[in-house]
Amino acid sequence: MKNHLKTAFNSVFLFAFFSLLFTGHSYVGDENNSPVVPQKDRTCGTVEFNELQMQQNPEFKINRERIEEFTKNYTNPESRLLITIPVVVHVVFNTAQQNISDAQILSQIAVLNQDFARLNADTNQTPAVWKPLGANTQIQFCLAQRDPNGNPTTGITRTSTSVTAFNGSSDQRIFFTAQGGHDIWDRDKYLNIYTCNLGGGLLGYAQFPGGNPQTDGTVNLFSAFGTVGVVNPPYDKGRTVTHEVGHWFNLFHIWGDEPDCNQDDLVADTPLQGPENVGCPNFPQVDACQPNSPGVMFMNYMDYSNDACMNLFTLGQSVRMNAAIVGPRASLLLSNGCVPIGITPISTGIPAQYSLEQNYPNPFNPVTNIRFDVAKSSNVSLKIYDAAGNETAVLVNQDLNAGTYNYDFNAANYPSGVYFYVLTAGEFTATKKMVLIK
Ligand SMILES: [Zn+2]
Repeated sequence: MKNHLKTAFNSVFLFAFFSLLFTGHSYVGDENNSPVVPQKDRTCGTVEFNELQMQQNPEFKINRERIEEFTKNYTNPESRLLITIPVVVHVVFNTAQQNISDAQILSQIAVLNQDFARLNADTNQTPAVWKPLGANTQIQFCLAQRDPNGNPTTGITRTSTSVTAFNGSSDQRIFFTAQGGHDIWDRDKYLNIYTCNLGGGLLGYAQFPGGNPQTDGTVNLFSAFGTVGVVNPPYDKGRTVTHEVGHWFNLFHIWGDEPDCNQDDLVADTPLQGPENVGCPNFPQVDACQPNSPGVMFMNYMDYSNDACMNLFTLGQSVRMNAAIVGPRASLLLSNGCVPIGITPISTGIPAQYSLEQNYPNPFNPVTNIRFDVAKSSNVSLKIYDAAGNETAVLVNQDLNAGTYNYDFNAANYPSGVYFYVLTAGEFTATKKMVLIK
């Protein structure tokens, strides 16, 4: 039932071998809101999609090696404040059923925020042996409040298409308005989540960091999205998108995409695992790589278990995702996509930090200027925190009239490291990150 397509990337590159998992069933929707056809085992097209992208774009492979080297050396020294990722959900529909409701979309955002914060209701299903590994990733999500042009938005686009089904991960029409999909919003500022009728039996796929900006999002089957509306058990708990967003933040499948015990997911605290798990295994689930209890971590979001049987990212996976946030996806830290039109931190005097291809922070030393807008008179505070969360400096704390303000932060007396500046104005709070290197 499965084919394993093995492709050698590069011997230097640590995730050297992947397999492609593919099953033959497909979802067939119609316009009469007929019962959704039961889905079989979970299938994710991420490996296939990224292999194809690398064939088409050799730079992607080079970027992947660079990012992996960066990730390997990242040890997560920061206890940083929360980052909230601006999300745009592109609904691309051929039938009324596929034009999923706002409520269904909101239910998916809620699942992401629960799962990434370890606030999901089913943490009690994590076996005791692994409970200490359950991670709050400090990553949260908002539906975008402003679009790439700076206009107000709901964070949802809706596009009627003549495409009855997008043919799995090799069909890139979904990313282009002119081809029946929707053009991506700037991936440096937004997480683009597409929902459509995805063929090929896939529940979803995502692009790893370092690839084509025009396809750098996740694509998800409309009936494996959120927890209400048109959802299809056993993929009705929003975990398909949790899984795909994990890929977008550079996580691999927990079994390392090979059925043997040699390939790893490059995360130390997830057990080596043979093949993927499907359905809902009972604990402990053992395999050739983990013959003894507690066995394999089938309840990890990056396995293929049913939605109701997944419940954690590990601390190691959180570190890996956080490496993506300070590395290839660092530009998200400066996105104002979550900021409603109104009180607006526009930009900082930190030099242009991120290029399209290699998004690593450039440091400041020792002075940086922070600029923000206040749309109406408010009590405003602008404070600096160090990576441990200690208040380091108060740049302003007073009533301000509407206008644009500039404040210098002179870090001459501070050690190198990551700092956060937090603007509070009335009900509004925004947190941004900057790096001081001397
Ligand atoms: Zn996957």
